[in-house]
Amino acid sequence: MYFHIPFCTRKCIYCDFYSIEGVNSFDSFLESLHSEIDLVVPPEGMVVSSLFFGGGTPSLLPASDVRKILDHVRQKYELSADAEITLESNPGTLDPDTLCGFRESGINRLSIGIQSFDESELAFLGRIHDVSQAVRAVRDAREARFSNVSIDLIYSLPRQTLESWRKTLLRAIDLNPDHISAYSLIVEENTPLSRLVRTGQVTPLPVETEARFFDETVHLLASSGYEQYEVSNFAKPGFRSVHNMSYWQHRNYIGFGPSAHSFWSDRATGTARRWWNIANVGNYADRLKRAMLPIAGEETLSSETLMVERLFLGLRSGGVDLHRFRADFGEHTLARQESLISELLRNNLVTLDDGTLRSTTRGYLLCDEMSARLTA
Ligand code: SF4
Repeated sequence: MYFHIPFCTRKCIYCDFYSIEGVNSFDSFLESLHSEIDLVVPPEGMVVSSLFFGGGTPSLLPASDVRKILDHVRQKYELSADAEITLESNPGTLDPDTLCGFRESGINRLSIGIQSFDESELAFLGRIHDVSQAVRAVRDAREARFSNVSIDLIYSLPRQTLESWRKTLLRAIDLNPDHISAYSLIVEENTPLSRLVRTGQVTPLPVETEARFFDETVHLLASSGYEQYEVSNFAKPGFRSVHNMSYWQHRNYIGFGPSAHSFWSDRATGTARRWWNIANVGNYADRLKRAMLPIAGEETLSSETLMVERLFLGLRSGGVDLHRFRADFGEHTLARQESLISELLRNNLVTLDDGTLRSTTRGYLLCDEMSARLTA
C-alpha cells in the first residue's frame, strides 16, 4: 500500500514527482485522504505486507496524523504482523522529537533522503538540508529506536568527481545504515535541471563516467557488507525493502493520494489493471468531496505488456524465475530466445541458477538493452 504526501518545503531541481511547495496546513488534504480510504473497496483477501509513505515529503506531516492514517487503514485492511511501514523523510524536517513521534505512531522503517555528503552538491540539487543535518538525522533515527534505516544517495551529478562520490559513499557507510539506495541522476523532462541542460548551463557526465561511478558504488558497498539486490538498491542481510521488492516482483499494490498509482492482477483470470490518481491536490479533493474516486486514468495490461514488464523488472532486480515465467506466459515465450540467453551467459551479463535468470553486476548496467532484445 502506498500513500503519496504531495508537499515539499522547496522543489529540488531534478525532481519530477508531483508535489507542491510551501503549504502550511495539511487539514483539507488529510480530510480528502481519509475520504479516499473510506471509498476504496478492499480487494477480497488482501493482506497488507508493506505500507509506504512517499512523496513529496511525508516527514512534514505531524506524527499524530500519520498515526490516524495508520489507524484508519487498520480498520479496513488486514496488516500482516510484520508489515514493513516506511516513511520517506527529508533531513531538513527532522529533529529528535519528530523522529520519536514517527516511531511511536507505528513507522518501523525510515528512509532518509540524504543524496550527498558534499555541501556544494546539496546546494546544486536544491536540497533544503546540509551535511550536518544529514548526519544528525541518521544518528537521531537510531536514538529514536529505528532499527531499519535506509538512506538515498544520488551520483553522476554534473561536475561531480569520482573522488567526491567515493567520499559520499564512505561517509554513508560510516553511518552504518541498514539499506542504501544509490541512484544515478536522471534529467527528467520539464524540470529546472532539464532547462539548465537544454540551455547549456549544465553538462551531464558522459555515460562512461557514470559506469565508473556505478562500478565504484557496487565495489565499495559490497566490501562493506551491502548486498546489491537491484540496480540501485543495496541492503545489509535481512534488510531488503519489502515494498520495493513488491513492485519489482509484480505484486499487487494500491496507492492513495494525488498521482498515486495502483496495480492489480488476478492470476486466476490472467487479467491485470493499472490505474492512477489525479496529479493535482485541488482536483483530487474536489472529486472526493463528491464521493467519487479520484482516478485520472487506467489501463488493462495485455499478457504481452506483463511479459515485457516481468523481464524488465526481473533483470533489474532479483532475477526472472523462468519456471513461473513459462507457467504465466506459455512454454513457447522464451524458447525462441534460447540462443540469445546463451550469448548473454557467455558474455557474463546474466547467470542461470536454479531456473532463475539473474543479471550480473555488468548485466545490471545493460539490463534495459537485454530486456529489449529478449522481448524483440
Ligand atoms: S524533497 Fe523529494 S519529493 Fe520534494 S522536491 Fe526534493 S526530491 Fe522531490
